[in-house]
Amino acid sequence: MRHRTNRKSRSGDQCQWFHCVRCNQPVSPEAAGTAHRNHCPWCLWSKHVDDVPGDRAADCGGAMEPIAVWVRRGSDWAIVHQCRSCGELHSNRIAGDDNELALVSLAVRAISQPPFPLDRLPPTADPTDERWPHPVERLANRQ
Ligand SMILES: [Zn+2]
Ligand SMILES: [Zn+2]
Repeated sequence: MRHRTNRKSRSGDQCQWFHCVRCNQPVSPEAAGTAHRNHCPWCLWSKHVDDVPGDRAADCGGAMEPIAVWVRRGSDWAIVHQCRSCGELHSNRIAGDDNELALVSLAVRAISQPPFPLDRLPPTADPTDERWPHPVERLANRQ
């Protein structure tokens, strides 16, 4: 594992340890399941240094907040990060040692804060059950 502290050139920067912008934990860029770990495995925050993962081409340097989890093809999870400075959105695959509790709480955040009352949701329509036809279908089927 390489630990370079004085390198300024962009090539090779992806091998540097970094300190989390949020919780200040030292983070190794090498992690199970990803070639370019760019977020903290404890709090999942990132830093806006890449345009594409690993290129270190962005000059922004803003703190990137984890705002959502989404499921990629093959049921891989990825974190959506939004830069607090410039607003840019990035998607980053999770690493094998990311904090599962932090990931799950991020994934259920939308469900835990619904913009409508969940207990008022109508029952799911079952097309084979005549008791629950959709109102439009009910009208269309009326002879
Ligand atoms: Zn952190
Ligand atoms: Zn930014």
